[in-house]
Amino acid sequence: MAESTFSEIINLYREMDHAWDSIAQTYSFACTGCEDNCCQSLFYHHTHIERAFLLDGFHRLDPEKQKQIRRNAKAYCDQTFASGNTTQSFRLICPVNEAGRCLLYPYRPMICRLHGLPHEVRRPGSEPVKGPGCDAGRFDEKKYTPFDRTAFYREMAQIEMAFRQQNRLNQKVKLTVAQIILSE
Ligand code: SF4
Repeated sequence: MAESTFSEIINLYREMDHAWDSIAQTYSFACTGCEDNCCQSLFYHHTHIERAFLLDGFHRLDPEKQKQIRRNAKAYCDQTFASGNTTQSFRLICPVNEAGRCLLYPYRPMICRLHGLPHEVRRPGSEPVKGPGCDAGRFDEKKYTPFDRTAFYREMAQIEMAFRQQNRLNQKVKLTVAQIILSE
């Protein structure tokens, strides 16, 4: 796909990364990996644009690396979903994580970027929904630095809507990274 297809999501991801870094600094928090590795979480991704962008990055990898990741993704899906399970995490490492390093780091989805810090999401007419942040940051011992994800979610929804219209996509998406890799 043309680079311009992804210019808006690249800008949005840049804003997310910048916000995350600034807020992490207020806690003197740096993610250096931990036993509770978030790349072992059962994360679902819900947008066609993020699927397309991740696959765009995947196709830029060396063909042998792509083959290896496809094998990892197949093993991940066989173990996670074989019995019809869709909710229980077996703490399997994401198929694009190699020795603790994300091979698709510039292309990783929104939840991989926003994870870790305490945050809130606001919906009209409701109290903010708050998330606690990861255990590694020990955020319960620290004063909360406001991190409102709402504008990011809203902007992602707008980018997704435009992408769906351009590509005549109607069906909903709910896919792990492993399923995205195998979804072509
Ligand atoms: S895409 Fe990258 S950052 Fe996200 S879970 Fe997989 S390895 Fe981790």
